[in-house]
Amino acid sequence: MPNSAEDSPKCFGGSGPGRPPALPRASAIATVSAVSSDGVDVLVVGAGMTGLTAGLALAEAGKSVRLVDKGRSVGGRLATRRIGKATLDHGAQFFTVRSTEFSHAVRMWETDGVVSVWTNGFDAEDPDGHPRYKTIGGMARLAKHLAAAFVQAGGDLVVNQRVHSLIDAGGSITATYDAATRIPDEAQAVLVTAPAPQCIEMLEYGGMPVPDPVRLITYHTVIALLVVTETDPAARLGPGGALQQPLDPMFTFIADNRAKGISDHFGLTFHTEPALSAALFNCPDQEIVNRLTPELHRVLGGQPWKEIQVKKWRYAGPRNGHPDRFLAVDGASHPVILAGDAFGGARVEGAFLSGRRAAEELLNHGAKI
Ligand SMILES: Cc1cc2nc3c(=O)[nH]c(=O)nc-3n(C[C@H](O)[C@H](O)[C@H](O)COP(=O)(O)OP(=O)(O)OC[C@H]3O[C@@H](n4cnc5c(N)ncnc54)[C@H](O)[C@@H]3O)c2cc1C
Repeated sequence: MPNSAEDSPKCFGGSGPGRPPALPRASAIATVSAVSSDGVDVLVVGAGMTGLTAGLALAEAGKSVRLVDKGRSVGGRLATRRIGKATLDHGAQFFTVRSTEFSHAVRMWETDGVVSVWTNGFDAEDPDGHPRYKTIGGMARLAKHLAAAFVQAGGDLVVNQRVHSLIDAGGSITATYDAATRIPDEAQAVLVTAPAPQCIEMLEYGGMPVPDPVRLITYHTVIALLVVTETDPAARLGPGGALQQPLDPMFTFIADNRAKGISDHFGLTFHTEPALSAALFNCPDQEIVNRLTPELHRVLGGQPWKEIQVKKWRYAGPRNGHPDRFLAVDGASHPVILAGDAFGGARVEGAFLSGRRAAEELLNHGAKI
């Protein structure tokens, strides 16, 4: 930690990430354009694990489903980046399996050659025997696998489009987009799987009520550092080439992506401790690197890096979640459901189960959607 105020970057120790700057909006409450797309049964906002799971279940049940994500690709926090010849997971690193339902899905993905056991514990002295799964080729590949199944089941996948607002238009729910060129979507039901603050924005901008419990959901922040080296960093990590140290004041997780088996080249992922991440969140990337350089050198044994990139996760995981797997917006003319890893259980498995339960809830509306 910095020794004095002079050691600290100017941006350090502020009030943390807070909410992102509000986007410019044409009016306080968006209006429905005269033109809208052909309607769909269900519009799913967000193509992370929750949205992909739900979208696939709904498409397989015969619903017409459009799955929209603001990102360039699917996956959300199932994220993998290529830096030169290195492949690095920079969001979720692995997943565990607790429920029978998730276990069935994981077994299918294993059979499809998409996931495999990474390690049975990160503590060399005391492996706990519980499998930690990785995705072969990086976490984003699991998302792409689910997206391909969704499209094959007849789903319509749209990326690079940010939903701006959700409006109760009476005969349907209308989704408007940031891009003025994108025609609004009409849907008989909407499932929103974005992190809670982003759900709130979409509802508020569209003049829809926000369920009170959603405002209580909070997230912790993580800054990921992606470090590519020329030669083997020979960092002293645990089984599988990773170190999980939740109490470390600096890095709570370090993974050697080559030892993990997802990268041909040397690339390490460092996850910065949540309180430190929050304190550094508003700093420019270079200042974050400067601030963490001594600790990085310690782990790398002084070896220089070839390239380093910073990824900030404002909503890394729920700090205060909601106990139920989904929440419905009361009083809407059509079902509007909120789901995600903040509902009923965190992590990849929690997102999967939330997606499943939300899809079931929508299917229970039967012919109405
Ligand atoms: C650094 C880090 C480490 C993690 N480590 C682990 C781990 O080791 N094990 C584990 O199980 N879990 C881990 N997690 C958590 C795990 O990644 C998440 O629980 C899970 O991926 C959440 O899935 P989701 O679909 O609910 O949300 P997300 O993946 O966040 O998906 C939401 C999607 O909504 C999209 N979106 C948001 N707003 C809009 C909008 N207005 N319009 C259109 N699209 C929008 C986003 O682009 C995003 O793709 C980690 C997460 C992070 C960030």
